[in-house]
Amino acid sequence: MWEFKVLVFAPGHSPAGVRARVSFHGDAMSVKGHQLFMTIEGRRVRLKTGGYDGRQWLLSWPGDGGEVTAALQGEAEIRLMQEYAPPSLAAQLQRAVRSSGRRQGRFRLLIITLILLLLLPLLLLWMFWLNSERIAGWVAGHVGMQTEKQLGELAFGQMKPGLKLIQSGGAQQVVREIGERLTAGSAYDYLWFVADDPQVNAFAMPGGYVVVNSGLLKAAGSAEELAGVLAHEVQHVEQRHALKNLIHALGWRAVLSMAMGDLSGGIWLDAADQLGRLHYSRDLEREADMKALHALHRAGISAHGLPDFFARLATRDSGQFTLLSSHPTSGERLQAIRQAISAAGGNASPSLPLAYDWQLIRNSLP
Ligand SMILES: [Zn+2]
Repeated sequence: MWEFKVLVFAPGHSPAGVRARVSFHGDAMSVKGHQLFMTIEGRRVRLKTGGYDGRQWLLSWPGDGGEVTAALQGEAEIRLMQEYAPPSLAAQLQRAVRSSGRRQGRFRLLIITLILLLLLPLLLLWMFWLNSERIAGWVAGHVGMQTEKQLGELAFGQMKPGLKLIQSGGAQQVVREIGERLTAGSAYDYLWFVADDPQVNAFAMPGGYVVVNSGLLKAAGSAEELAGVLAHEVQHVEQRHALKNLIHALGWRAVLSMAMGDLSGGIWLDAADQLGRLHYSRDLEREADMKALHALHRAGISAHGLPDFFARLATRDSGQFTLLSSHPTSGERLQAIRQAISAAGGNASPSLPLAYDWQLIRNSLP
């Protein structure tokens, strides 16, 4: 004999419900549980569906002390009931199946919507991450020069207190003079700085801020080698590499803040910190190298200083040279620079040695 399990809530019985079994005999429904026995005419039974997902089926009927409710325990019980219920319940069953189906459909839709809502930001982030280089490039291309200068000013302003700038002496003058020769006619107004810092490093910030460490000046064997490094660094400004990298590093915050024309927010506070640690991709380095060679030729300065300086650094213990970590030199890169120089006719373009007493300048550094 078939029967299905229910939990019965009836006046005078446990409020937590009584476990019981239901079976139909003709048109009568009998309910048997602990200290509970009821027989109800099928036509007096009401069937309802409920629950957030429509999977709860409830039978109810008027009892002696008030309404009695029986909750079906699970899908298998619901199927049994659908199969064996008497004809007097058929119409109610049909309605219940329809309403349960609707409720389940709505529930599924809700779950899918929730999942999409949760995933959407992740999806957007992922797409942004996949395309971040391209987006950064695109944004950089749409940043006005005025904004770029403001950005550089903000970032450099953040960084400046941490730098021990050398304001006087020959070194600063040489950096400025060579730098100005290399950037004649540029759209940027460059500012040239020498920092008292033993790390062999130089960097350029958006808008034309160039900082050369005393460590680099001491490591350079000639003014031409310094010129090579400067020519390379200014290309990171001219080609907007520094701007692209900054935007890439700051990510969507930069995009949003720039879209809203807000350059004053705290977003830019870590800009300086970011810029100090930014690495350029191999492609950007190559571009800066090649454009640097052109700039050196235009300025009438020997282009050999650039590969000479890199070669010099490569032979030293590279661990302590920041320039090498932000501008990794490889044999391949050095070879590409030397090939480009010889392809341009070696040193055919007239260049006079830079007229500086390099030893004297190095000695003037603290
Ligand atoms: Zn570089």
